[in-house]
Amino acid sequence: MLPATNELGYYEIRLESIGGLGANVAGKILAEAGVVGSNFNALNFASYGSEKKGTPVKSYIRFAPKEKQIRINSPVVKPHLVAIFHENMVNTNPVTQGLYKDGIVILNTNKEVDQARDFLKLASGTVAVVDAIKIALELKTRINMVMLGAIVKMLGFINLDSVKELVKETFGKKYPQTIPSNIAGLEAGYNEVKFKYFEYDGKYPYVEYREERRPVGYSNAPIGGTIIEYGNTITKNNITSRVGKIPVFIKEKCINCGLCETTCPDYVFVWDRKVKNGKPRMFNMGLDYQYCKGCLRCVDICPAGALVEGIEREYDVEKITVKHDFDIYKKWYEEGENL
Ligand code: SF4
Ligand code: SF4
Repeated sequence: MLPATNELGYYEIRLESIGGLGANVAGKILAEAGVVGSNFNALNFASYGSEKKGTPVKSYIRFAPKEKQIRINSPVVKPHLVAIFHENMVNTNPVTQGLYKDGIVILNTNKEVDQARDFLKLASGTVAVVDAIKIALELKTRINMVMLGAIVKMLGFINLDSVKELVKETFGKKYPQTIPSNIAGLEAGYNEVKFKYFEYDGKYPYVEYREERRPVGYSNAPIGGTIIEYGNTITKNNITSRVGKIPVFIKEKCINCGLCETTCPDYVFVWDRKVKNGKPRMFNMGLDYQYCKGCLRCVDICPAGALVEGIEREYDVEKITVKHDFDIYKKWYEEGENL
């Protein structure tokens, strides 16, 4: 039996993820397991942005009792459960909006449940945490398998064995060698998810669902569709693209050769112009991480060891960020400086 349903008789789930983490596959397996293994009706579909790796993706699952058909496939705006595949999404998107007051949020994080509740600013409901990145790296599986295991555990009405069978079926033909690690990831997510229920205590307000409005849309986008500014995504923010790693800048080692600047696809590096020995020279000041998608090309190219690979969670990225000063760039440009 479903633990709760909305006024239409559905139990609804929203997976908040980014392209490349496999939320769509997880959603498909979950819905199918509900039908073949637990005797429900189910529906799954996903919505993508540009389908670029690293851009936000939502996958929706609706369950209904077997005798009830599911006739709508509109996005889930009032979910019973939300699973967040990448914790950076919490800072950029209102990922828990519309959640039922006694709903469940599952977060991929290394935070404890109390910290995660504050991080999510959740008014009330169950907060569940699982360190899917760590588990996936250890078991050589993917984040979606670990998250799927945690979701199955928190739902409590989906048969884990049927999910395992579907994992075997899904990957068996193309990637049979991945089955053992995927099953291990699934089981680890199921067994290692930790959770706690929070009563409403007035600490944080409920967040109602609000349709997202982008500042630039089809009616006011620049001609040609190009936004000629730094980090030219609509949100001007690439942080959800990073899946655990960042480049770390060691200023003392930098020889200001500029190779990172020419290699980086996203204009992450911040430069300052100073006069040295009577000549103006450019100096690398650091990284504006808002634009960094964590591809680590700059680490590969740096000849001086001034850029090294770092685990994102081990750094306070806000603190090590050096912001671009667009006014200075404009001034240099106007002064005829070739940037
Ligand atoms: S490639 Fe390395 S040494 Fe060259 S400017 Fe960039 S950080 Fe400095
Ligand atoms: S990892 Fe390096 S090359 Fe890649 S986006 Fe970030 S700064 Fe640019």
